[in-house]
Amino acid sequence: MSATKRSSIKCPSCGKWRMHRRVIKLYKTGFEGVQIEVPNAKISKCLGCGEETYSASELKRWQKIKNEICEQLSIPSRVHRIEPTYTYYGFIPRN
Ligand SMILES: [Zn+2]
Repeated sequence: MSATKRSSIKCPSCGKWRMHRRVIKLYKTGFEGVQIEVPNAKISKCLGCGEETYSASELKRWQKIKNEICEQLSIPSRVHRIEPTYTYYGFIPRN
C-alpha cells in the first residue's frame, strides 16, 4: 500500500465507504450511560451505513466531560464502565 495524503479510512462496519471526518460544534450523545454535550466533537461518519467512529484521544476527552458531569450531578462515575460496544478507531498519522 502506498501512502495516501487523503484520509482513506474505510468504514469498519460495511467496508465499502470511506469515513468522512467532520467536526460538530456541539455534539449531544449518551456516553457510558450519561448524557453529555461535546464541543467541537471530531467524528467520522460513513455515508453508506451511518457508522460513526471516534478516535481514542477524542473518547478520552469525552470521558473527561462525562466525569465532570458526574461530579456536578453527584453520580458515582465508577458505576459507569466503558461500553465494549464503542468503536475505537485511532487516526494514525501517515507521513
Ligand atoms: Zn459503512
